[in-house]
Amino acid sequence: MVDVYIGVGSNLGDRLSNCKKAIKELSRNALKILKVSTVYESKPWGVTEQPAFLNLVVYGQTKLTPYELLGRLKGIESTLGREETYRWGPRVIDLDILFYGDQIINGKELIVPHPYLTERIFVLKPLSEIAPELRHPLTGKTVLEYLNDVEKENQDELKPLKEGL
Ligand code: ADP
Ligand code: MG
Repeated sequence: MVDVYIGVGSNLGDRLSNCKKAIKELSRNALKILKVSTVYESKPWGVTEQPAFLNLVVYGQTKLTPYELLGRLKGIESTLGREETYRWGPRVIDLDILFYGDQIINGKELIVPHPYLTERIFVLKPLSEIAPELRHPLTGKTVLEYLNDVEKENQDELKPLKEGL
């Protein structure tokens, strides 16, 4: 079993319900879920003219290989009705592999650790609740150290949702 961290995001339709369904599907098809973070509402990143996102992070263990896991995540995204738009565009659900153990993968279809993880407060904040001392296998920096760096610049871009999952 390998420790994996999955980023979950939604900014279309009933966002909270989409996140809940995704977690259910993840536990059914992809991993044994051990921890789920708080849900945060965040301003869009990259393409800013779109609805606000809900984001959270799930920690679990899986027997799947990285590419099998990616395939399952894509399957869940399409089950929940995600349609192709444009890069960083609006989506019913987005499931990203943040970490897969301490493996480093640089494929065409899959890059792990997720390449934008260290810049995205909406990933780092929920991740820091679950794994503050987790180290990035390429840099040795911890999640908390990355969070402190980005928080200096982005303090008001994230708020915890009152209703949980
Ligand atoms: P983003 O999540 O960066 O907004 P998308 O969800 O549209 O982008 O994903 C586009 C492609 O990114 C996917 O088809 C997938 O093959 C690829 N990809 C590369 N690395 C990862 C990863 N670590 N987790 C999920 N998808 C990834
Ligand atoms: Mg994605």
